[in-house]
Amino acid sequence: NADAAMYRAKELGRDNVQFYAPEFNSSGHERFLLQEELRNALARGEFTLLYQPQVDLRSGHVFAVEALIRWKHPSLGLISPIKFIPLAEETGLIVPIGDWVLHEACRQNKAWQDDGLPPMVVCVNVSARQFKESNLINRVVNALKDCDLEAKYLELELTESLIMQNVDMAVSTMNALQSLGVQISIDDFGTGYSSLSALKTFPVARLKIDKSFINDLVTDENDQAVASAVISLGQKLNLRVIAEGVETNDQVAFLRKNNCDEMQGYHFSKPVSAQGIAKLLNKEQGGHTSME
Ligand code: C2E
Ligand code: MG
Ligand code: MG
Ligand code: MG
Repeated sequence: NADAAMYRAKELGRDNVQFYAPEFNSSGHERFLLQEELRNALARGEFTLLYQPQVDLRSGHVFAVEALIRWKHPSLGLISPIKFIPLAEETGLIVPIGDWVLHEACRQNKAWQDDGLPPMVVCVNVSARQFKESNLINRVVNALKDCDLEAKYLELELTESLIMQNVDMAVSTMNALQSLGVQISIDDFGTGYSSLSALKTFPVARLKIDKSFINDLVTDENDQAVASAVISLGQKLNLRVIAEGVETNDQVAFLRKNNCDEMQGYHFSKPVSAQGIAKLLNKEQGGHTSME
């Protein structure tokens, strides 16, 4: 039976089925199969984190990295989080998986500090169910304590749509996180529907302009309008603004001209391993020393 399941998994992999697609959802068997694979993945150590640098546009320094989960399945290969996070969310597996991400990101950040890298913030994505159902505050407290990481070096990324599902509840959880000293940013900003009056009351440090507005930034006037509006909104509300998905010089030039604070994207670096980050920051640090 396990063999049959594995065979099915290979079939799925070969056809590159999108596991969150409606046709997949309608098939109990396929859902069950991938759920089982997902359920085992944590115990089998199939998850890893990559880290993508976030860069200050004025100084050019890396001040933070975003932790991005990867699933290496022994026969399906590398599975994108875009495929398995929604399934993990549906099944509730996101709670233990998300807890693992939180711990691993904090542990790694502390390890970089212990290795003498300049301290930086690690950003962790939090999904809706994790935020609503899993006693997030306790989990965050425990992760920080277990890893001996100061709260100011952890940031949680919440999407705009997650926050808008229940604004009152979200604000009280965000307030509790903020009083721990943990920072909060709003991910995929511009794709949801936060009212500007609500945004004013959110205890958040940063807005992340969704990469769908950055892709065609140089040619699409609507995207330019959205991006520059978000940047000035951030300035007026005293929030930092980061652009995600920045790939080209022209995009960087637009963002600089419009006083965007920060950027993240392939232009500077793809998501890389923990060692990759250490190498990158050692180089950066070396650069400073030689200038002094
Ligand atoms: P996100 O949080 O908005 O993360 C940004 C995504 O954009 C990442 O995709 C990143 O690799 C990609 N990206 C960054 N720079 C560029 C660029 O210049 N060009 C392009 N085309 N893409 C760029 P990734 O790693 O595949 O993650 C996709 C989504 O999966 C994330 O979107 C996030 O919503 C979710 N995710 C990833 N890791 C976790 C996790 O640990 N927990 C939870 N709950 N969700 C996660
Ligand atoms: Mg994110
Ligand atoms: Mg995003
Ligand atoms: Mg996203």
